[in-house]
Amino acid sequence: MSTNSTIRLIDKLEQTRSLTREEWTDLIRSRTPETAEYLFKRAEEIRIRHYARDVYIRGLIEFTNYCRNDCFYCGIRKSNARAERYRLTKEQILSCCAHGRELGFRTFVLQGGEDGWYTDERLSDIVSSIRSAFPDCAITLSVGERSRESYQKLYDAGADRYLLRHETYDGLHYRRLHPAPLSAEHRQKCLWNLKEIGYQTGTGFMVGSPFQTAENLADDMIFLKSLDPQMVGIGPFIPHHDTPFAAEEAGTMELTLFMLGLIRLLLPNVLLPSTTALGTIAPDGRERGILAGANVVMPNLSPQEVREKYLLYDNKICTGSEAAESLNDLKKRMESIGYQVTVSRGDSLNIN
Ligand code: SAH
Repeated sequence: MSTNSTIRLIDKLEQTRSLTREEWTDLIRSRTPETAEYLFKRAEEIRIRHYARDVYIRGLIEFTNYCRNDCFYCGIRKSNARAERYRLTKEQILSCCAHGRELGFRTFVLQGGEDGWYTDERLSDIVSSIRSAFPDCAITLSVGERSRESYQKLYDAGADRYLLRHETYDGLHYRRLHPAPLSAEHRQKCLWNLKEIGYQTGTGFMVGSPFQTAENLADDMIFLKSLDPQMVGIGPFIPHHDTPFAAEEAGTMELTLFMLGLIRLLLPNVLLPSTTALGTIAPDGRERGILAGANVVMPNLSPQEVREKYLLYDNKICTGSEAAESLNDLKKRMESIGYQVTVSRGDSLNIN
């Protein structure tokens, strides 16, 4: 496809916010550095129109690395006997929040493996304790697939938002990344339940995961359009040495940035993080993500001693400007590209 036809597709996406599967596939396949530059300019303008030059921050608390699942790509999968397991107590989590609030965080993201120890009762108790101790802060959960009743209980306990990446829309591709009984269908069902309950819902996918095709990414975009989530998290797949995908190739920054730009055009007022994985594959990955249309970063607020144990992929960054306590460094880095870190809950404008 010529540069001109690629640019015409980008314009069509901006104007109509909808492309056919074939158009998505062509657009993704035909990208060049030149068309990517064009896309990023459009994406930046749209993002500034909705969210100005604000960068929202979320304090990420990785509270357990126990997991019942065995996702082929993930370093904390059940079968990885070499992962050193930990779980944080309610007191430890609350003290992370207190520290985070002090630093300027108004959103806490509790992320973990699917750990049966955190029953609805225990997790609801943690959520409601955070809710009453930090009434001006948003609580985001990211603890995988649970029943609708469980999501409802956690919502009633005070959780506002939920992050659950769909990982890949296509059922066959999904099965090549996850063992049975995990399925794309069930994962997506969870997302619809979360939305119905009233959570500000985030989904997303890995870029460059093994076996992924441009058609798979096209399907991911069409799914995003139909779910119409409040947040979308994407990042490059990065191999972890103790998983079945140890020898697979990592996704690229180049394709991740291009997908970020496309998502900004598709869902103009969505919250779009420049993810840790992007910051891991390139030293300036986070800044490049912001310049491609992202508007959120999620520094690590977990206690220092567990950070290295939440190793989803090799070399995952958790110190430097990635760490919550280095917020000043992050602020400077954002200022150097013309953006400013804000102290606010940073709710999504994509609400319906
Ligand atoms: N158990 C929770 C949290 C998963 S970890 C859940 O099921 O949602 C958060 C995200 O990290 C995952 O959704 C996945 O997209 C990403 N991730 C896991 N392993 C990865 C890898 N090897 N490379 C890149 N991203 C990875």
